[in-house]
Amino acid sequence: MAESRIMVVDSSAVSREIVARILRNVIEGANVITCGSGAEALQVLAENPYNLVTTSLLLSDMDGLDFCRQLRGSKDHHSTPLIVISGDADERLLKEGFSAGVTDYFDKSRGYPAFGAFIKRFCQRNSGLVGSILYIEDSKTAAAMTIPIMERHGLKLIHVLTAEEGLELVKQMRSGQGESFDIVVTDFYLKGEMTGGDLLHALRTRLHFSQQELPVLMITGNDDLRTQVEAFHAGANDFVAKPLVEEVLMARLGSLLMIKHQYDALERQAQSMERVATTDSLTGARNRHYMGEHGEKMLAAAEGRNFWSLIVDIDHFKKINDTQGHLVGDHVLAAMGALLKEQFTDDVVVRFGGEEFVVLLSGLSRKEVMGRAEELRCAVESLKPEDVAVTISVGIAGIDDHKGCDLNELLGLADKALYVAKDNGRNQVCLTQSDGTVGSVTEHLASA
Ligand code: GH3
Ligand code: MG
Ligand code: MG
Ligand code: MG
Repeated sequence: MAESRIMVVDSSAVSREIVARILRNVIEGANVITCGSGAEALQVLAENPYNLVTTSLLLSDMDGLDFCRQLRGSKDHHSTPLIVISGDADERLLKEGFSAGVTDYFDKSRGYPAFGAFIKRFCQRNSGLVGSILYIEDSKTAAAMTIPIMERHGLKLIHVLTAEEGLELVKQMRSGQGESFDIVVTDFYLKGEMTGGDLLHALRTRLHFSQQELPVLMITGNDDLRTQVEAFHAGANDFVAKPLVEEVLMARLGSLLMIKHQYDALERQAQSMERVATTDSLTGARNRHYMGEHGEKMLAAAEGRNFWSLIVDIDHFKKINDTQGHLVGDHVLAAMGALLKEQFTDDVVVRFGGEEFVVLLSGLSRKEVMGRAEELRCAVESLKPEDVAVTISVGIAGIDDHKGCDLNELLGLADKALYVAKDNGRNQVCLTQSDGTVGSVTEHLASA
């Protein structure tokens, strides 16, 4: 999260410090600067951008509401959130506060703990205007008026002139490349072949962006009821009519950004829950549940690029447990998981059973996979986790040698190779060949 610059204005040093401390606690990445007088604060505020300003109502050198008016009149802070913290719910604040540009106020008599909760809610309400916008507008005059408005409110903009260019950027975003943006704001009538409506249709039906994942705000003509209805049919979240009114545009963008941020938060939560549910907590490897869900699909997706299954089993692990204790055994397993993930970053590492791991990988030749497995065996030999000498045996089977096998059958063939590796004295890599016989990779590479 980006740094939030916050200005706290109060003539009491004690109050300044308390307020600053609460803000630092509540707002992630808060950079709080304090000022003892209105004049000093206005000077500092003129030099730097700020995301939030709080002031007390009684300042030593000026009236707090005058401070607010002066701040609102300044070039860069005419929409910066501004909170008045006042000791008494001043009548004057209720009457004049909002015309003076006060965004919200906090009654200090409710106590400072309540201030923390107030700030948290305030930030949630005002978090809307963080985001980036893909803005599609072919009219130079309209763009010249609208771009500064959105930028002044802290939004990041990418401006293009046609729906075709816009669609290209959205496609790139869909494929995980290029710029990413939170909202599309598009004019309906555009210069190219496509209208804003056509673009919208493509986003919703071809690229499958829902209204939550990528909100779209359509810009239409003032009395253009038909276009407005058409925009909704094509999947617009909302529309604004030309000529654009700053307050209306920003209010609409604010609520669309809220939708988008909520979508993102849910998405992140779902992803982290999925990760927790499919990861083994001791080793960091995936669990069997994950392999059940994804393994077969990976095999199918690897079509034409050889797919390999490796079973990695720690040698005499029971002995490690028996002589060093179960806790050391756990540390060895954790170190093993870390090493496997390090050596097979782009592949899937699964904790298959107690001290048994499976690695699924594709796109390697037989020679390459043999080399990688042998590298792993050597790396484990020199790993010495917890000062314990550890070795592994590995069994390999690849789909090109065993065409038509499903994942379970392939794992069975790798297990057959593992059995031979154990039988051959352990600390060894073996591979089940296409005729069903097992060869020792370790011996083969040593003699080569
Ligand atoms: P081999 O070389 O034939 O594989 O011998 P081994 O001792 O490694 O194999 P065996 O299957 O006989 O024993 C595996 C042991 O792994 C038994 C079990 O107590 C231990 N184990 C399984 N899960 C865990 C775990 O989570 N932590 C610890 N510390 N030990 C575990
Ligand atoms: Mg136009
Ligand atoms: Mg074992
Ligand atoms: Mg085992």
